[in-house]
Order: sequence, then structure tokens, then C-alpha cells
Amino acid sequence: MKITFIGLGNMGAPMARCLIAAGHSVTGFDTMAAPDDITCAPTVAAAVDGAEVVITMLPNGDILRSVAEDIHPAMTKGALHLDCSTVDVQSARDVAASAEKTGLLSVDAPVSGGIGGATNGTLTFMAGGSAAAFAIADPLFDIMGQKAVHCGEAGAGQAAKICNNMILGATMIATCEAFALADKLGLDRQKMFDVVSTSSGYSWSMNAYCPAPGVGPETPADNSYIPGFAASLMLKDLRLAQQAAGAVNASTPMGERATEVYADFVELQGMGGMDFSAMLPFLAGD
Ligand code: NAD
Repeated sequence: MKITFIGLGNMGAPMARCLIAAGHSVTGFDTMAAPDDITCAPTVAAAVDGAEVVITMLPNGDILRSVAEDIHPAMTKGALHLDCSTVDVQSARDVAASAEKTGLLSVDAPVSGGIGGATNGTLTFMAGGSAAAFAIADPLFDIMGQKAVHCGEAGAGQAAKICNNMILGATMIATCEAFALADKLGLDRQKMFDVVSTSSGYSWSMNAYCPAPGVGPETPADNSYIPGFAASLMLKDLRLAQQAAGAVNASTPMGERATEVYADFVELQGMGGMDFSAMLPFLAGD
């Protein structure tokens, strides 16, 4: 397939490499990054010329909107715009509407799995768009990921992503504050893990991504909290969830509090570059 990949950052470059390794013809474009091993076009319009699929992996909704405005008129009619960035639901819907108006197919398919998942081709994709558009994207999801769920119409992928990450943010804080409380109660962290990971308090944050160093599986906690998943990205996703909740008048008190706690951690404590599980040493006062 003739594929264009726009946004060759931490996630986009390794995803593009997976497609190249699978034998697809990939042209890249990025305003800053220029990886040696990915052939890049000089302009975004030249990059999308003749492409059957254009994938975008960009920092936020405003940038996605502006790139979509540039590329949609330059894309071949009937081609697919597959956006894998994490953006607000409204931007995803507006970009899908622009694609439809221009005679293009579109899918919003944010990912879970981080840089490791992008490198190893083991991402999970949460997709929104028509069945016809999803069918074109699906074989590419198989190459870049281990699982793709077609969640519904345009915007449904972003909705699934921010709901998942709102649970993750709140659960990580709850896990970290429980460890911090256990410390103060004189409970050994390993014993705490042994009980909670097999009791009703278990979660992905505790069992698969334990924030306590030396306890449970190997995680960023065992590597000085180098991300992993940076706290700044968790804050971004929690704010997207709050923005969406506000737009539809949904009550999300835990999500709201988790946003405040991560905003403090990232913006007041300057910890945005640390893994989001570094909430534990922060709360425990380590
Ligand atoms: P990044 O900042 O490393 O990469 C973004 C790239 O987009 C950069 O190389 C930048 O130069 C490029 N870019 C910016 N504006 C552009 C434009 N107008 N035209 C072309 N290129 C442009 O970010 P990332 O970590 O790769 O994340 C990308 C997306 O994936 C984000 O939406 C993020 O929330 C999401 N995400 C990231 C992770 C992660 O662990 N890094 C995990 C899941 C989802």
C-alpha cells in the first residue's frame, strides 16, 4: 500500500517503521523530526500526493485540525485519513466531517501501549468511523498493533481512549496513596502488593505497573521512574476527559480530582517528564 505518515515523533517514527518492515511503501512528513531511515517529502502536500492511506500521529487537536485542512484537499478522492493521535472528541468529529466533505474516508484510532508498543508493533487501537473505513485500516492495525476495537462512529475511538485513561489516572493515584498510607501504618510494601494484587483492590496499576520499586513486575518504578507513560501525557488525557465531560454535562468527580492532582504534580512540582507512577514517591514523601 502507498502510505503517508505525518508526525514522526516518539510514537509515529516506530509505527512507520513497522509498516515499512511489513513491505508497505511509506513516505513521511514532520515539521521537526527527520529520521534517517524514513523517506520524507519536502512539503505536506507532496507527502500525501497519490497516497491510499494518510496516517497522522500529532501532539493535539489544534495541530490535527490545521494539518487536516492542508492535506484533505490534496489527498486522492476515496483515500483514507487514519488519525492515531490522542485529541479531543470534537476535533476528531470535525476532522471526520471535513474528510467526508472532501470525498475521503476517515478513522480516529488513538492508541494505548506507549513507545514500547509502537516499537514492537503491539499497540491497542480504539477506532471510530464507518465500517468501510475501518476495514481498510484493519490490516494496518494488525501490523502496528495486537488488537483493534471498532468502537463506533467518528469520535468513538477518542471517547474510549479518554474514558480508559481517566480510570487509569484515578486508579494510579488510589494505588499510590494506598502504598503511602501503608508505609505510615508500618505495612511492608511487598506484603501490601501480595495482598492487594490478589484481592478486590487489584488493578492494572497495581498488578502490571506497580508504582513501588522492587515490588511486582519490572516497571518504570524500577528504572528511576523514567517513562513509560509520562505524567504530562496523563495530565493531557485527564484534561481531554474533563473537556468531554463538560461538553456533555457528565458527572466525573474522581476524574476531576485526578486532573487536579496530576496538574499539581506536573505544573507545580515540575514532574511532567517523570513516569505517571512517580506519584508514589511524591505522595509518600520519599
Ligand atoms: P511527539 O511530540 O514525540 O511527536 C509528535 C510529532 O509531530 C513531532 O515530531 C512534531 O515535530 C510533529 N509535528 C508537530 N506539528 C506538526 C505539523 N504541523 N506537521 C507535521 N508534523 C508535526 O509525540 P508522541 O509521543 O509521538 O505522541 C503523539 C501522539 O500520540 C499524541 O497525541 C500523544 O498524546 C499520543 N500518545 C503518546 C503516547 C506516548 O507514550 N508517547 C502513548 C499513547 C498516545
